[in-house]
Amino acid sequence: MAIELLAPAGNGAAVRAAVQSGADAVYIGGKSFGARRAAQNFTADEIKEQTDYCHLYGVKVHVTVNTLVKQREIGELQTFVKELNDARVDALIVQDLGAAEIIKNTCPDLTLHASTQMSVTTADEVKELARLGFSRVVLARELSRGEIENICRMSPIEIEVFVHGAICQCYSGKCLMSSILGGRSGNRGSCAQPCRLPYELCEGHKSLKNGYLLSPKDMALIDELGTLKRMGVTSLKIEGRLKRAEYVSAVVGVYRKYLDLLEEHGDTKVTKEDMQILTDAFSRSGFTDGYFKNKLGADMMSYASPSGTGDTKYTRDIEERCAENANVRKIGVDITGTLKLGSPLEVNFSDGEGRRVRAVGTLKSEKAVNAPLGADRLKAQLLKLGSTPFLCRDISVTADKGVTLPIKEINAVRRKAAEMLADVRVKREKGRVNDYAVPSCERETPAKIELAAYVTTDEQRRAAEEAGIKVERFRPFSGTLNVCNSLTVDYLSKNGVVTLSPELNLREIEELLRYTNAETEVIAYGRMPLMVMKNCPVNAQGKCQNGKQVYSLRDRKRRVMPIICEGERGKCKAVLLNSVPIYMADKAEDIKRLKINCVRLLFTVENFSQCVKIIDEYKRAFADGEKLDAPPENTFTRGHFYRGVT
Ligand SMILES: [Zn+2]
Repeated sequence: MAIELLAPAGNGAAVRAAVQSGADAVYIGGKSFGARRAAQNFTADEIKEQTDYCHLYGVKVHVTVNTLVKQREIGELQTFVKELNDARVDALIVQDLGAAEIIKNTCPDLTLHASTQMSVTTADEVKELARLGFSRVVLARELSRGEIENICRMSPIEIEVFVHGAICQCYSGKCLMSSILGGRSGNRGSCAQPCRLPYELCEGHKSLKNGYLLSPKDMALIDELGTLKRMGVTSLKIEGRLKRAEYVSAVVGVYRKYLDLLEEHGDTKVTKEDMQILTDAFSRSGFTDGYFKNKLGADMMSYASPSGTGDTKYTRDIEERCAENANVRKIGVDITGTLKLGSPLEVNFSDGEGRRVRAVGTLKSEKAVNAPLGADRLKAQLLKLGSTPFLCRDISVTADKGVTLPIKEINAVRRKAAEMLADVRVKREKGRVNDYAVPSCERETPAKIELAAYVTTDEQRRAAEEAGIKVERFRPFSGTLNVCNSLTVDYLSKNGVVTLSPELNLREIEELLRYTNAETEVIAYGRMPLMVMKNCPVNAQGKCQNGKQVYSLRDRKRRVMPIICEGERGKCKAVLLNSVPIYMADKAEDIKRLKINCVRLLFTVENFSQCVKIIDEYKRAFADGEKLDAPPENTFTRGHFYRGVT
């Protein structure tokens, strides 16, 4: 099987550029539920139109449905999914497990791909997704060659990996930075890219480094195509739904070239000229393959500038030419033409993939009075396919001697055959549609609300244990905080109490809980993890925490965001925390009204006595019903409880 080249397209010009430059599949987004809300994207009618265009060329269409879905959006999601079913798209790329359940229940024949927003990093997760009905997983971009290889070996379903374009500092799907700092959720397609702003790395109060410390270079794995193929990767994905058609055309063109060379000759080395084309199309001070090669650190980063070069290299003129060069890509057809005296012209087109059409004219041929038509002239007319997507591979023509037919009629039959073949190529079976509504339930108010803690240090654990509250280790790299609807809650409830997304507001939580009886909790205290990072920004500066939490990033508003690390020295993974903790003890009544089962305190940089104090306040507020005062201004946040995210 040839490896699939999957291209991004944020608008119609980019779809054409991708197809004409040799993509095997494109991925696009609708007007909602896509992780790139800033792209132009497509209406339902446009998706249908673009899908037909792609299918004509045998190119598959994947549609991103990869945002987290709130309870009240489920109806809208179902409408959208039915439209995608009508458009006969080839796959839906999904992040939210609840959304996947809705899709399966509504349009069971649709194909599901697990989005990179699920941050899948292990074979076990892939197997679980296979069990849930996914046929492909787009792996997290942070994985190394060895890890990808291992997953491919163990996976019962297709594996897709990103090979080119922008990467994030945070594992995709785990980034709350834009959401928490500005209310624009990356999980909902609205990322404001605070990672591309300058920060100052501090050791205590001492400044260590200034720059774009969270801004990685773009990735390029053009040199690894042979390796990826040997591993058994199914699909290679190019990032860039916000990029222009000219970018898509250039990058797809280069990858197509080397994939074709790989098929013909095995591995080939990428030329300097082609590398330059990729660089000119877009790069951030060069490319990185750091995750793939497991070479993390400063080399992966674009400290000096967050913006790319490339935007200015192409003029508008070239962009338009790129986008409009329709019908460069041709579909080979075998043609036969038969003209018998007294009968209309019959033309057959077949595309070599088993599709065959037969067009018959309306005029009968006659005996020629002067010059007869002749087989050569008929052949020449049938070969005029210039304006169609087809190119003749083989033609055979038979014409009775001495007959004639108007040229106009020959052209009409040829056009008809071409149209018929195009229609047949576009035609797809439509999947089933079911009526499905999430059943609501009468949720009981729990007799008492439990208090529990997530901890990151031993002294925090001791504080929680001494206070007699339930305690677990905080696992930002494997726990999901992306629980936004009742179906996701129900799925996860087999593992115990489900932590609801910190991106939901009180009203949205209330709404969700009308549809599930599962035990749930909210994080009502703590510094939320803004980013979880494989490439630790402290380690990248040759420093290490040594178990002491003294490093932080300071932003332009002088907010200090602590960094905590996990794992051994030199190989640590890092978590960037919010500058202030969520505090809700004085608002206990608002939380109690929710009918949740548990209130979770998240301890990250707190010491023993701070933990003791916080636990005491929450006990008084939640268990004893005591009314507390709010802490001093600017020392805390209410999180999203009162505002929510877009
Ligand atoms: Zn570190």
